[in-house]
Amino acid sequence: MTGIDEKLQPIFAEVVRRNAGEPEFHQAVHEVLESLGRVVAKHPHYLDLALIERICEPERQIIFRIPWVDDHGKVQINRGFRVQFNSALGPYKGGMRFHPSVNVGIIKFLGFEQTFKNALTGMPIGGGKGGSDFDPKGRSDGEIMRFCQSLMTELHRHLGDQTDVPAGDIGVGGREIGYMFGQYKRLNNRFEAGVFTGKALAYGGSRARTEATGYGNTYFVQAMLQKRGTDFDGKTVTVSGSGNVAIYTIEKVQSFGGKVIACSDSSGYVVDDAGIDLDLLKEVKNVRRERISEYARRRGSQVHFIPSDKGSIWDVPCQVAMPSATQNELSGKGARALVANGVIAVGEGANMPSTPEAVRIFQEAGVLFAPGKAANAGGVATSALEMQQNASRDSWSFEKTEERLATIMRNIHDTCHETAEEYGAPGDYVLGANIAGFVRVAEAMRMLGVI
Ligand code: GLU
Repeated sequence: MTGIDEKLQPIFAEVVRRNAGEPEFHQAVHEVLESLGRVVAKHPHYLDLALIERICEPERQIIFRIPWVDDHGKVQINRGFRVQFNSALGPYKGGMRFHPSVNVGIIKFLGFEQTFKNALTGMPIGGGKGGSDFDPKGRSDGEIMRFCQSLMTELHRHLGDQTDVPAGDIGVGGREIGYMFGQYKRLNNRFEAGVFTGKALAYGGSRARTEATGYGNTYFVQAMLQKRGTDFDGKTVTVSGSGNVAIYTIEKVQSFGGKVIACSDSSGYVVDDAGIDLDLLKEVKNVRRERISEYARRRGSQVHFIPSDKGSIWDVPCQVAMPSATQNELSGKGARALVANGVIAVGEGANMPSTPEAVRIFQEAGVLFAPGKAANAGGVATSALEMQQNASRDSWSFEKTEERLATIMRNIHDTCHETAEEYGAPGDYVLGANIAGFVRVAEAMRMLGVI
């Protein structure tokens, strides 16, 4: 790979050597280091203090066995992870992901991204991430509960509202958080509401947390479009995925007057020229937990379902693309198709959904590009608002919470924009996000001594 300043190349080489076989982590580090050449040119003390090396090394990594019994009485074993990446700004904070692709490299890349994302929110939260290679697909409610309880039987000793505060991510929503928090509460004999976020309203959750990642990404893209003198009104939009992030992105884009014509899941995508029927999508995905083809079947003949081996959602012409499924879902090929079809803005709802080649293609074509660590920070920012409500034993209205979220997203946008300008790359939100996030964490670490 290229693009890293000479002075930083040995740091990257050491990260690769020390974390062999973890390509996603290398990719995430590479992308940040590409931006930091301009920082060390201006502030060489970051090199002298080995701050970059320290930031690339997680503070603590926990890997553990999760034994559980399935509905047939068979013992199953999964592997659990929690990577406590950086606590310079606050307790480790970041979601748990349940997906068969999870391994230590995936969790490390997510924890690394999370550290800068959380710094960008301006809230007092460090970075962490966890999960398991457990596949929730097709599992009964009882199996999910027993799995979550077994996971927490080990993980509880590493958590705390001032230590490490997990939340959801792919495969982990309100149901799983409830089971994990329930087991934590039992084991610790403490109703420690602030140890988990993404909780249901009934036991200490925050209003607008479920909506926050998708809403936040939409606010961010709206701010970018406004800088260019336009907005979502009347634009055609493609949103990949159909999980929590995608659904609430669609909801907010529609409320801003945009027309979302396509969404997807791992089995394929649907194109609905009349605009996605959000109530039906919520019913299919959230209530019935079915595949996206079911949306097309129920919607009738004007909607097409294209299986994933027959085409890509990025071939659908749109003006704004919001990848909200998973890492590296948008390749160079997808980016070229989007650019050829006239895309003007891309906002990453997922974590690192665009490959490095895709990012380069967007930037070279002058497409407004919002990297996930800035654009999808609304979820974790609202988690920090949930922690704030828990600490003060308060519960805010939806309006107040959403207003705070909108302000935070506007601030993140402006910070990235101004930082890019300050470092001589106007309009480069990737550079702006990486530098602004890095400097916040690095400055706190510098003040705390060699930690
Ligand atoms: N998993 C989400 C993210 O990637 C949210 C994390 C949180 O709320 O702690 O930012």
